[in-house]
Amino acid sequence: MDRSIIGNWKSNGSLELNKIWFKDFQENIKDSAISSTAICPPYLYLDQVFNIINKANISMGSQDIDISNGARTGSISIEACKDIGCQFSIIGHSERRTLFGETDLTVREKLLAAQEKNMSIVMCIGEPEEDYLSSNTQDYLFNQINQTIKNVNLAEDFTIAYEPIWAIGTGKLPKMHEINTIHKYIKDIVQSTSKNSMVPKVIYGGSVTSENAEELFKEDCVDGALIGGASLNGKEFAKIANQFLNKGL
Ligand code: PEP
Repeated sequence: MDRSIIGNWKSNGSLELNKIWFKDFQENIKDSAISSTAICPPYLYLDQVFNIINKANISMGSQDIDISNGARTGSISIEACKDIGCQFSIIGHSERRTLFGETDLTVREKLLAAQEKNMSIVMCIGEPEEDYLSSNTQDYLFNQINQTIKNVNLAEDFTIAYEPIWAIGTGKLPKMHEINTIHKYIKDIVQSTSKNSMVPKVIYGGSVTSENAEELFKEDCVDGALIGGASLNGKEFAKIANQFLNKGL
């Protein structure tokens, strides 16, 4: 399955570290696992990383996009991301929402702009800890999905990353069966909310490492993973991608 194991490097990396990452990745990845991998480096390293991974079968994506080009100082357009080799973009990451004030409406606008310009999308959703603890996860996600994709004709490769906010970078995860139940719920809700009744691919993000990936990938409705911290090490990222092979897709 293509682009199922996605590394989000966030604002990390350097010209030197990016080269080391790729060497470590190449030395540890199984040939048959490469096509499932994708990485999202910071914008300024996209060009360098694209050239490094050139001959490998890894996809590259951006961590975010702007809705338009032109007079929008400091922003990065979909056209520029595509031009430099991005095959997809993440949108709606919780750090964009909490640190940069993005709302479901912002995310919807980005989704619509991306689809119009044929850019594939991985859209993040996820609940805060208090909603998880009060069993409000499904309602919280229902709202996020409703406000972002209601009546939208979704592209066939539209992907949702379920990322409980409290699981990001904390080492805490929901129980595996809870993740599976939520993924099934997300697939159902997206199907009934989107205009074209799309059942999306749903990947999980939040403290995934090579220690817990095997167990995670055993769950039926887990179609992959979005990985932050553990993706910064090429060997660790490769180990996770190798474990995804056991899913036998
Ligand atoms: C993320 O921020 O998308 C993420 C999943 O981070 P981490 O793997 O570090 O929890």
